[in-house]
Amino acid sequence: LEKKRLDTVLITHLPNVRYLCGFSGSSGVLAFARGDWAFFTDGRYTGQARAQVQGAAVVVKPQVPLVNAAAWVAKAMRRGSVRMQLGIEAEHTTLAMHSRIASELRKQAGNSRCRIVQTSAIVESFRIRKDREEIEQIRKAVQLASGVFPEVLGAIRLGMTEKHVAAELEYAARRAGADNMSFETIVASSERSALPHARPTGERLGRGFVILDYGVILGGYCSDMTRTVRVGRADRAARQIYKAVLEAQAAAIAAVRAGTECGKVDAAARKVLRRYKLDRYFTHSLGHGVGIEIHEAPRLAKGQTQALETGMVVTIEPGVYIAGSGGVRIEDMVLVTPTGCEVLTPTPKELVIC
Ligand code: ZN
Ligand code: ZN
Repeated sequence: LEKKRLDTVLITHLPNVRYLCGFSGSSGVLAFARGDWAFFTDGRYTGQARAQVQGAAVVVKPQVPLVNAAAWVAKAMRRGSVRMQLGIEAEHTTLAMHSRIASELRKQAGNSRCRIVQTSAIVESFRIRKDREEIEQIRKAVQLASGVFPEVLGAIRLGMTEKHVAAELEYAARRAGADNMSFETIVASSERSALPHARPTGERLGRGFVILDYGVILGGYCSDMTRTVRVGRADRAARQIYKAVLEAQAAAIAAVRAGTECGKVDAAARKVLRRYKLDRYFTHSLGHGVGIEIHEAPRLAKGQTQALETGMVVTIEPGVYIAGSGGVRIEDMVLVTPTGCEVLTPTPKELVIC
């Protein structure tokens, strides 16, 4: 905050609130002013806030937490002798939130003395590298999700709907102790497997590829994995596509190490697919960071110059999608180390025929 010359700050993005003070509920704002942190929430979270919040005074009031937090920083700013700057999280503050903050500042501190400054990724820049505890938590989430995969695989049958497969996955994950799914489960069969982000439909599984992309939340941390299985026989062309994606994924994993640019890891996967003349069917980026949120920095994509750092946890998920025919994606989570990476996802990757 000093480096950015901010006297006060309002943290409104809940994953950042959680990261900084431990609160995991759905309503709360963390504020900093005059050397102190205060956490604002409403009556529904009195007990939870007192139990979870560390390093900040807990303030519970019936009004909207943002208004209380803004009034608190505004009062602190009024006491300042010079022009003060309040940092807000630009990516996570709506126009309505901005006007509420501005109106509190006007009311409490007077217009001329305070300035609202848009900030970007202050907390996220700390979250990008995971500490030992976070890595342990991520490991547990990954293991839980991988652990239910064989059971779901055993249940997949020709003629079952995609929604039924998704239900089996989510039921198994919940029974195994998942707090929730980390995003909407993707089950895409036959021709629909060519849609990288297909939602499960009432479509019945026919012969062809089925992409299963899912993850769980456990102890506040997300997991993310994709496996593609085959219902019915796989002909030579299908096996070739699967082999190409698997090789591309291995090449990308081999390219991961601290100091390497994210774009270079993406390029390693594309290079393999080019050899198979399949690179033009790889229509999304290679991967993303995972942590408290399912999609975090860094982005592993074409041209990304950001360097990987030890402690980052990212996905490696190349895919090939051929419209009218089908698609294959294989996704693991990896932990970046000084000399390479550790693949966290233990699920085997040979093509499974159901
Ligand atoms: Zn995924
Ligand atoms: Zn992913």
